[in-house]
Amino acid sequence: MSVSSNNQSSDPRTPPASVDVVVVGAGFSGMYLLHRLRGMNLSAVVFEAGTDVGGTWYWNRYPGARVDVESLAYSYSFSEELEQEYEWEERYPTQPEILRYAQHVADRFDLRRDIYFRTRVTAAAYDEDEATWTVRTEHGDAVTARFFVMATGCLSASKLPEIPGLSRYRGATYHTAHWPHEGVDFTGMRVGIIGTGSSGVQSIPVIAEQAADLTVFQRTPAYSLPARNRKLRPDEIAEMKANYRAFRQAQRESGFGLPTPIPTKSALEVSEEERNAVYEQAWEAGSLVAILTAYTDLTTSQEANDTAKAFVHRKIHEIVKDPQTAQDLCPDYPLGTKRPCLDTNYYETYNRDNVHLVNLRRTPIVEITERGVRCSDREYEFDAIVYATGFDAMTGALTNVDIRGKDGLSIKEAWHAGPRTYLGIASAGFPNLFMITGPGSPSVLSNMIVSIEQHVDWVLDAIDHLGRNGLKAMEPTLEAQDAWVDHVNEIASYTLYPKANSWCMGANVPGKPRVFMPYAGGVGEYRKKCDEVAARGYEGFVLS
Ligand code: NAP
Repeated sequence: MSVSSNNQSSDPRTPPASVDVVVVGAGFSGMYLLHRLRGMNLSAVVFEAGTDVGGTWYWNRYPGARVDVESLAYSYSFSEELEQEYEWEERYPTQPEILRYAQHVADRFDLRRDIYFRTRVTAAAYDEDEATWTVRTEHGDAVTARFFVMATGCLSASKLPEIPGLSRYRGATYHTAHWPHEGVDFTGMRVGIIGTGSSGVQSIPVIAEQAADLTVFQRTPAYSLPARNRKLRPDEIAEMKANYRAFRQAQRESGFGLPTPIPTKSALEVSEEERNAVYEQAWEAGSLVAILTAYTDLTTSQEANDTAKAFVHRKIHEIVKDPQTAQDLCPDYPLGTKRPCLDTNYYETYNRDNVHLVNLRRTPIVEITERGVRCSDREYEFDAIVYATGFDAMTGALTNVDIRGKDGLSIKEAWHAGPRTYLGIASAGFPNLFMITGPGSPSVLSNMIVSIEQHVDWVLDAIDHLGRNGLKAMEPTLEAQDAWVDHVNEIASYTLYPKANSWCMGANVPGKPRVFMPYAGGVGEYRKKCDEVAARGYEGFVLS
């Protein structure tokens, strides 16, 4: 498989043998952590597998890659100078624009000198007597630290599908999350793409414009809403910059880390005419959350959700000319229970003569052959296959490292029936290990940067608390953790989220326990709970 140009030799520097904090990952979490740790006069190293900062935005370079949160909201709030001086170009910036922002932050705060690039962490073990972690890298280095922070992101362990014959294929293959840095020219090629999540939905229209022929293999249709992307106007930038503090506060108190009007009505208490007018407005708004937050009960009532679902189905039928293709593109699960996508010309792309949709519910893939993809009814031949097949989400990046806590307990074993955390930040048996946006926190159900900043601040306050009180370690009690896991499950059970076979449920990885992993109670409520825990002397943790 062609992957990003990341196979250069290791970082030539040798990391220090001992620091206060080891951080894994130099995405938005790791960068902010490093900046704050320096401000606290704590020594730190960051290990990063890529050749530069940026995390998600370093790896996911597929054509059409963009964020689906608006740039002025999807940005750090910790530095007013940064907020004021940075100039975003687009409403929904492209991957290169976001990567440039990450690089600007790294330059501006001189972060790279403590980041060891091209360095994958392979193992970490806790020494109970010393209350230290020893973190090992693929290059044989070992660093000892009091604190160990996994800032590895929720969607970083990419996943190829379990389809027989994957290695037999003779043409070029690509995974959207490991796109070659130099780009790919599909001109004149017959291309097959497997997967119609956000990565597929964003890349399909762009690849379709280049390729001679594009065949899309769809197992589960996505709900996709038009992004209505555009250049930002100077007046709206100026307005946001003048009001940033109030906006940031509203982000922190909101449900998804995005201030939205709070709905007051049920979708079922208004007329069909009124409802459709509201949905139409939301469709035109170019927003991931506008439809879902239009009424109080769209994420909790099947009947209410059915009204929004029917609206989107109608839109798909209006846009896509071939009725069978339109029908195949209509999702059958409730809107919002798999992460919706924001697109540019996604449904319109199916009106092109060179684009074909294969509904895998009717004709499943049987195998990958030397020439292409064999479905139950026929073989398709390709010059290239793109896997837009997603990630071992939320837990993959954590369990891919051999993390051993007290008594050699492995995190993989501890989480064999699903991730178990307290607040999505820490896990019993693993003192002084912190996760940024871990399972059990709002994470992927939020504007990630808002949740990242909240977790980094909370974790560093906790570390500061230990230092000021002459304490060495903190670890959640099993009781607090069990109660938190129950709470996370209970909140999910009030919603429609568990109804879809989503990566949030672990459903895309065969054998992965079926557990709804993020905290669905909202960013603002969650923050309050975390703050209460801290205010009560880190209630639910044993400090020693
Ligand atoms: P994804 O949402 O998990 O989508 C993977 C796709 O591959 C799904 O359609 C899945 O079908 C399909 N697939 C997996 N295994 C398959 C198999 N064996 N046979 C056929 N189809 C198979 O992954 P993603 O598109 O990379 O997106 C993941 C998440 O990353 C998003 O939900 C979003 O949170 C984030 N993301 C965000 C943006 C953005 O901000 N704009 C862009 C990209 C990604 P099933 O659904 O049936 O499993």
